[in-house]
Amino acid sequence: MWVLRRVLVLLLLVRFAGGASPGPQTYKTKPQPSGVTHRPATASRVLKPAAGLSNVVIITLDTTRADRMGFLGSPKGLTPNLDALAKDGGVFTRAYSHVPLTPPSHATILTGTYPQYNHVDDFGSRLGKQVPYLPDLLHARGYRTAAFVSSVILDPIVGSAPGFERGFDLYDAGFHHRRPGEDRYNSIERRADEVVARAESWLQNRRPGPFFLWLHFYDAHDPYDPPEPFKTKYADAPYDGEIAYTDAALGKFFSYLISKGLYDRTMISVMADHGEALGDHGETAHGVFLYDETIHVPLVIKLPGERSAGKRIDRRVVLVDAAPTILQTVGLPIPKEMQGESALAVMGAVSGERAPTEDRPAFAETAYPRRAFGFSALRALRTGKYLFVQAPRNELYDQSVDPQEKQDLSAKATAVTQTLAHQTDEFRQKTASTKASSKETVDPEAQANLNALGYVASDDAKVGPGIQDTGADPKDKVETVNLLHDAILDIEDTRYEDAIPRLQKVLTTDPGIPIAYMQLGTAYSWLKQYDKAIPALRKATEMRPDTLMPNYLLGLALSETGDWPGSVPYFEAAAKKSPKWGALHFSLAAAYARLNRSADAEKELRTAVELNSKDFRANLVLGRMLSLGGKSAEGILRLKSALKLKPDSVTAHLFLADAYSSLGQAKNARQERAEAERLKSSVGSEESPN
Ligand SMILES: [Zn+2]
Repeated sequence: MWVLRRVLVLLLLVRFAGGASPGPQTYKTKPQPSGVTHRPATASRVLKPAAGLSNVVIITLDTTRADRMGFLGSPKGLTPNLDALAKDGGVFTRAYSHVPLTPPSHATILTGTYPQYNHVDDFGSRLGKQVPYLPDLLHARGYRTAAFVSSVILDPIVGSAPGFERGFDLYDAGFHHRRPGEDRYNSIERRADEVVARAESWLQNRRPGPFFLWLHFYDAHDPYDPPEPFKTKYADAPYDGEIAYTDAALGKFFSYLISKGLYDRTMISVMADHGEALGDHGETAHGVFLYDETIHVPLVIKLPGERSAGKRIDRRVVLVDAAPTILQTVGLPIPKEMQGESALAVMGAVSGERAPTEDRPAFAETAYPRRAFGFSALRALRTGKYLFVQAPRNELYDQSVDPQEKQDLSAKATAVTQTLAHQTDEFRQKTASTKASSKETVDPEAQANLNALGYVASDDAKVGPGIQDTGADPKDKVETVNLLHDAILDIEDTRYEDAIPRLQKVLTTDPGIPIAYMQLGTAYSWLKQYDKAIPALRKATEMRPDTLMPNYLLGLALSETGDWPGSVPYFEAAAKKSPKWGALHFSLAAAYARLNRSADAEKELRTAVELNSKDFRANLVLGRMLSLGGKSAEGILRLKSALKLKPDSVTAHLFLADAYSSLGQAKNARQERAEAERLKSSVGSEESPN
């Protein structure tokens, strides 16, 4: 019994250490390599660097509205550096995104295919190897390839962009879940200046040969919080301040390219993945609607040698055209699977070819309202002068006279509406791929990270195709969407008291949203009001019994109140749903240990270590448990693994000393105790086991 009690005390000590609140989000993240993440590119055929190929840079501006760009007519003066680039390139005044969500939109840009083809239509959907991928194609032709992304949302490992690293010599992500008190710019996001500095460092040290560089800037995404002097200058319009700040960072990058003699030889494409609603059509941020404020995006393409300088293209183009345009510019074949069209001819940059003038139809869709809230998905088709929105109540706008999309003509122009509904279905059907997608549900860590960005992460992957099996029309539910979005940002910024009334309001009008109950339970848990947290979380598990997070969070909340027997079934249900989550197995081990189920506890700890051999906590506790249970030799190995991860851990040295003592190895034991003493006196304070 004593063995177990001591282990228990330790388990709890370890779990609540470091001043972290014992609320539901204290689970440990996988250790991330600090700084740059290197991964070998996976293209099978890598040719020698080809001579004479142009360099390629893609710059994606997250959440950036077209109407903030000086080169598209904004009078605000936010983008002098982009305006200068635009003078050297072709400006597309009517470019459209296919999906107002970051990973899916970037997938369309980099693959030249629609979401319905590449199946990256949600957070965490894996980009399959069968889909053509610009970085991979360029890498196979001898390009040096690097990506510098600025949000965990595009992290292939802990974020929601698995498979995006294909073809990159370097995919610089390496984000981690934001711990209490930690700065967002050192955990889940990176500011523009740092992205530029990292890219310049890579350019400085790259091997010879043409390069492909993707820079992603997340600054304009909410919360809008530009650094000084932009913070003060744009105190009344922080979103604009973020755009001005990003432009300034880009100015430094363009100057660097010029100073190194690279600018003229490089094709530079700048675009946004989507815009930001900022209250237009009632939406606060983006993701739910498909109107121009989130779908019309800036697009500039500067060709090598400035061949496109001063061109202004008013023809409608779409983001799936980006990859084919780049391939044609550098003289590489465009895979037949790519669904975009090169825009080179439109730019008048193909000799002997007349520039086509007819508009491209622009298809867009979003499954976010359905997946996150249980409302209807939406689709849109821009064709001719119309914007058609497919929803439970379809909408039709004449963009030639109503650019703000305020006058819904669908009731009057029923024939046009019907025709466009048919065309939308037909377009989607024609462009969809029925090839099995390698869809994965979002992993729990990615979910926590998505929440940290204000998204509602759903691990319910069972969403039917089409918008036929619909829920409510999102245009009737915009207040709910905004309230939930704000509440999640409140929770991330530890304003739990603000989040609670918002969530209660959501649940008064829409009691069918399990995620709102889950967030409410989360907020109460952080406030240690478990009597209120537990009923909310119970409700969430009742509504979605087979989903991961409600079960896990309820297990945690119950264990906080000492109801260990009550917590076990929920931890077990969560573990069944996500067997590969180490932190969950650790929590389950703690519960088993409390209930004197030492064999089960040991098994769970072994699983936690197997899943992540670099989990200090799991190695430490397992090592202690083994040595106290008479398996000192194996315990010593675990404790040594723990010490490799944290050589300064006083606790680990003391445990190791005990283990040596129990084997009669007095000299080793003495050494470990002496080391613990030395560390104690040099650190002078209690260590945090995390
Ligand atoms: Zn985005």
